[in-house]
Amino acid sequence: MRSSALMMCLVAAAGCGPVELGEDDPGDPNLTGSSGDVELADADEVASTEDALSHCFCRSPFACGHSSSPSFMFSAAHAALVRAGISDGLLIQTFGDAAASVGTHCPEPGTTKSAATDIVSGSAPCTRTRALRMQGFAAWYRVPPSFGRHIHAVYAGAPVLKSSLQSQVSSFLSGRNGLVSNAIDTVCPITTAEKNAVRAARDGTPPNGGGCVPGGYYCGTDKVSGDRNTLYKCNADQTATKVRACSHGCSINAGTDDSCRCVAGSNYCGGDVINGNSSTLYKCDSDGVGASVVRSCANGCAVVPGAEDHCK
Ligand SMILES: [Zn+2]
Repeated sequence: MRSSALMMCLVAAAGCGPVELGEDDPGDPNLTGSSGDVELADADEVASTEDALSHCFCRSPFACGHSSSPSFMFSAAHAALVRAGISDGLLIQTFGDAAASVGTHCPEPGTTKSAATDIVSGSAPCTRTRALRMQGFAAWYRVPPSFGRHIHAVYAGAPVLKSSLQSQVSSFLSGRNGLVSNAIDTVCPITTAEKNAVRAARDGTPPNGGGCVPGGYYCGTDKVSGDRNTLYKCNADQTATKVRACSHGCSINAGTDDSCRCVAGSNYCGGDVINGNSSTLYKCDSDGVGASVVRSCANGCAVVPGAEDHCK
């Protein structure tokens, strides 16, 4: 019932009721008295009273407006959206004053951008939701009966957030659903890595505190947290993924990728101890750090635990 009102408003937000001139209250963010399936502190998408349903919440010139244009997103939020693999065509709402949203999607105070974005959920909704989270969005997959299916995403790294969105981000960081019920999110349960990515976006610090360069290789403690003798690859959001434990130690190399140390003069397939193509045989340089190509292996390269690797 309310979700149908939601969809109407999303599609034709400009028609969601008259502005109540003289009504200065931007909308009590602490809506109460509803079933609990209401966005925390501002009832994203679902108004709880008839009064709210006839009310526009955004300030002029945004009152009762609606857009799905990326121009209403903060540039950092849009860049994060792109990194999450989401195209502009999947945007449902980048700012909107649908009465049922009770102000959630209005521009942030003093700006013309909203940090809250609604996105098409698609055929793999949790995958898409998780991709957004890893890029710094407090994101939830909203489902019937309380909502029409969509992803509600709040960019935690926005330069300014209305208090209701700050509350939603806080709810996310405790694994909760951002609704008035503030229950644990069981639709796409929130992982520790997702919380870390959102917290890092909010705080403006990379999750590992070191500012690694995405795509680069690092020993733990060198711009990524982790074990000193393990090699990691820096992700787009500056989290780090383990590549391999270094049995001969990890070398921090100035001006280039860090690498696992190798045994001088020994042969290795790429990816076994040393970085490189898995079908190429390399020889460890005399410094135990660098490696040179021996040959490309036409039939592949055989990794031999405890002995030298060789071409098949
Ligand atoms: Zn929303």
